[in-house]
Amino acid sequence: PTALVWFRNDLRLDDQPALQAALAQGYAPVPVYIHAPDEAGPHANGAASDAWRHRSLHALDGALRARRSRLTVLRGPTLPALERLAAATGAEAVFWTRRYEPAFEQRDTTIKRALRRGGLHAESFNGALLIEPWDVATKQGDPYRVFTPFWKTASAQLRKPRPWDAPKRLPAPPEAADATTIDALGLAPKRGWDHDFWTQWFPGEIGARAALTTFLPRIAAYPDARDVPAIEGTSRLSPHLHFGEVSVQRVFAAIGDADAPPEARAAYQRQLGWREFAHHLLHHFPHTVDRNLDPRFDDFDWAPFDAVQFDAWTRGRTGVPIVDAGMRELWHTGWMHNRVRMLVASFLTKQLRMHWSHGARWFMDTLVDADLANNTLGWQWVAGTGADAAPYFRIFNPLLQAKRFDPDAAYVRRWVPELGTPRYPAPIVDLAETRDAALAAYKRRG
Ligand code: FAD
Repeated sequence: PTALVWFRNDLRLDDQPALQAALAQGYAPVPVYIHAPDEAGPHANGAASDAWRHRSLHALDGALRARRSRLTVLRGPTLPALERLAAATGAEAVFWTRRYEPAFEQRDTTIKRALRRGGLHAESFNGALLIEPWDVATKQGDPYRVFTPFWKTASAQLRKPRPWDAPKRLPAPPEAADATTIDALGLAPKRGWDHDFWTQWFPGEIGARAALTTFLPRIAAYPDARDVPAIEGTSRLSPHLHFGEVSVQRVFAAIGDADAPPEARAAYQRQLGWREFAHHLLHHFPHTVDRNLDPRFDDFDWAPFDAVQFDAWTRGRTGVPIVDAGMRELWHTGWMHNRVRMLVASFLTKQLRMHWSHGARWFMDTLVDADLANNTLGWQWVAGTGADAAPYFRIFNPLLQAKRFDPDAAYVRRWVPELGTPRYPAPIVDLAETRDAALAAYKRRG
């Protein structure tokens, strides 16, 4: 008997629970990917993610072919595509790993019901998280809104991961009549603006493993190095984790076994904890993709959207060097250092006082690691409107922050080489004045 293994953001063969279940239950797996951009809802990932996905799908297909299998690529709508393929291949089951974005949670529930009504064995698995969002609760049975107690409870519940190794061989799936190709999906940019990305990123399982292997010897330095944007102090695993090219269980286990002081290993695992927390929040508070988690901010006096200022922010032309460096790193590499993400987000929401959702949308379009859960948490945290937020009145001073975390200006000079020349713009706003205005707006908030 055959089973469809529906690949989504779990583009790997190693420790892939849907594939594992198919094989364990004696099915011949038919790997399938379905392109259905209309089903992603209003907070879909954008162009940088598409560029990554294009390469990651090729990597997955290559890994399958090396095992005599192949990725069947179909166009949505998803439900009829799965039904047609199941009928054509005689599949009795459809397996996949879960996603937690509100649009996908809803869609997948509908799909599961419909497939089961049609007599298929439809089952979903946890392939993306250390612990499911609904398996962590306060003593009162509520979801958490604060990170530290969340992670205390969640990490105590974790069992030692036992990752599953990729199979060496897979059966060849039958041809599907309506199959298309990865290239025909049009995910790759037409004008090559992503050219620079691929000098430093290697999408797919092999690239993900390489990033993990490169990082392991650096864990001891992580607690201090992680805040310095000029150096490679962090793991850069975020796009690989987002696309599921490496299992988080695998990463967690590798870090746990690494030869480094326990505090350093715990510091890294705690960041994975933030990723868990973000998914916990997104699952329990799905409205936070565009509304404040803290409703006291719903009538906050945001400045009206200013297209000229927003454009200067996106292009890295605000005249505030660390902000501009970050926005240019984002544009050229599809990634930005975490410390700098906080500074550019603070500048947009406090100094320009624009609603955080404008910035969040830009990040969803331009980051290769754009992730609705992590991005929503990050923006609401900086804006002060979300869970565990930095209080709104704590406004980063970008100049002091730059002095502290980029003392030799190595990062700023790398991305803003024209600094100190007439070509570099003067600040588009007065930092002290806008800071006072933001504080005044905060006080008026009632
Ligand atoms: P490392 O320091 O090596 O951390 C390891 C992993 O832990 C990361 O790959 C990531 O999966 C997770 N992680 C680390 N920090 C966080 C965090 N604060 N919240 C959630 N998970 C975390 N991360 C995304 O993956 N996608 C996003 O769209 C995203 N948007 C953000 C927006 C803002 C405004 C801010 C302040 C942060 C955002 N982050 C986002 C979180 C963080 O900046 C990135 O995860 C991190 O910079 C990725 O680099 P790394 O893999 O080298 O991190």
